[in-house]
Amino acid sequence: MAGEPGRAAVKITDIKCAVIANSPVIRITTDEGITGWSQIETPKPYLQPIVLQLKSWIVGQDPVNVERVVRRIRVRGGFKPWGAAVSAIETALWDIAGKAAGLPVYRLLGGKVRDQVRTYRTLYHHEVGVGHTPEDYVKWAEYGMALPEGFTMFKLPTAFHSSMVRDVPDFYYGDVQHDAPFPYPHKGLMSEDGFEHLVACVEAAKGALGSKYGLALDAGPGFLPVDALRLAKRLEPLHLLWIEDMITGDYVPYVNPDVYREVTPHTTTPIHTGEQIYLRQNYKALIETHAVDIVGPDPCDVGGIAELKWIAEYADLHGLAMAPHGTANGILGLAALVQVCATLPDNLIAFEYPARFEPFWYDITEGFDGVPVRNGMIDVPDRPGLGVNLLPKAAKAYLEDGDADFFD
Ligand SMILES: [Mg+2]
Repeated sequence: MAGEPGRAAVKITDIKCAVIANSPVIRITTDEGITGWSQIETPKPYLQPIVLQLKSWIVGQDPVNVERVVRRIRVRGGFKPWGAAVSAIETALWDIAGKAAGLPVYRLLGGKVRDQVRTYRTLYHHEVGVGHTPEDYVKWAEYGMALPEGFTMFKLPTAFHSSMVRDVPDFYYGDVQHDAPFPYPHKGLMSEDGFEHLVACVEAAKGALGSKYGLALDAGPGFLPVDALRLAKRLEPLHLLWIEDMITGDYVPYVNPDVYREVTPHTTTPIHTGEQIYLRQNYKALIETHAVDIVGPDPCDVGGIAELKWIAEYADLHGLAMAPHGTANGILGLAALVQVCATLPDNLIAFEYPARFEPFWYDITEGFDGVPVRNGMIDVPDRPGLGVNLLPKAAKAYLEDGDADFFD
């Protein structure tokens, strides 16, 4: 491939993928010695071969022309989790492009519009050690407010997005699947008692948080639109940040914007979805018909960080807000979220902090010296590329047997 004026051609020489602590980590190497890093969500080791089967499509290509490379593989992804491989490659290419230019990725995406990015924290019930009663939800709020990072916004997994559907008898009119690994397969009309229990729990959490903290709910998928609207209207006095994924969402391989339209225009509670959606094309109807108030693509699933920026800009044109997903994106995903969110328009609310990675990741990487959150904000770093690199010497001990040559 021909080079460009002033620089020799760079070529991708290899892509490797190792599973470290259940999270696939991507390493793209080049003939100029620059390495690109990225990461797929933590609970997805099964995506390792999905990454590696894209190798023949990208080796030999010039990684600095990110879009030209991604055009070759973009059709080989799908809704979460099947777009993660393409998304991670896209992000690793930006890391290389930034390093080749000696610039942070935000400079290549058009420059930063803020020096700090706000991040919100999803708090899981098992992390806090509580269940699904109003008393538990008060403890949940108190735990969040006591965290040293000073988060100002929290997201509460509840209803169909939690074990509430299993723990509260007769929560809804449908079969409860106690043996499914995820609570999400449930869907149906809620019972009046189930509905009132949910309302009491959310009111308890918000009552404890008060007006100085924002509260979002991650509540589905599983609601029928009639219950979704009932809940959104009932909770209007709580001034929630949003309710997420009530109709479709996490791992649902379609969008159904027309059904969201039966809810969103009829309530002042903001309605949010998008973490499962792959590519801008699948956001088109959602945004153009104003089917939700807030979109939440995940750079690990939507097709990468430039794809996420495009969606943020298009949402902003239509008056929709932006709150990217990222709970399991790991330390490299955190780096990517900070870089892209620094460049987003004013519709950005906050991105979801990837809290689900172990402290040892700070020992096997350079870039973040411990949790980088202060008062719920993160300073945008100026290091080249994504700004976080694995340290092979330290990281080697965490490789699984089949991945022993990852750093070779
Ligand atoms: Mg969610």
